Amino acid sequence: MFEPGIKEKIEKAQYKLTQQRKAVLEVMQDKQGEHLSAEEVLQEARKKVPNLGIATVYRTLERLAAIEVLYKTIFEEGKYRFELSDQAEHQHHHIICMACGKIYEVDEAMLDSLEKHLEKEGFEIVNHQLKIYAYCPECKEK
Ligand SMILES: [Zn+2]
Ligand SMILES: [Zn+2]
Ligand SMILES: [Zn+2]
Repeated sequence: MFEPGIKEKIEKAQYKLTQQRKAVLEVMQDKQGEHLSAEEVLQEARKKVPNLGIATVYRTLERLAAIEVLYKTIFEEGKYRFELSDQAEHQHHHIICMACGKIYEVDEAMLDSLEKHLEKEGFEIVNHQLKIYAYCPECKEK
């Protein structure tokens, strides 16, 4: 079963959910909150559809990102990771650990206060996009 917002987008795009595409989407929904590479999705989805190929996974992920069911972000050099879309006005932002590669999510409230601050200075904020590179608390210890 997919969330109503997801079902709606798929129907609107007239995207036919074959067994293989469905397996890919199910993995993304099961792993909500994680940021998966196509290879990782393949590994999981093969548990449902053993003959699934990487090309199908790539195509499905790209298409689902195009219709905003998924959200893709480029993390490591040239490598995309996919996650379920927030179904909100805009997607959350990421903090990427430069040592272990772990991905954290930025608390949107911090950005709200930044925007409010800038508005007080006379700016009219339209949107924001943010990616922070850091050493995570665990890696900082070492
Ligand atoms: Zn934001
Ligand atoms: Zn780390
Ligand atoms: Zn994320």
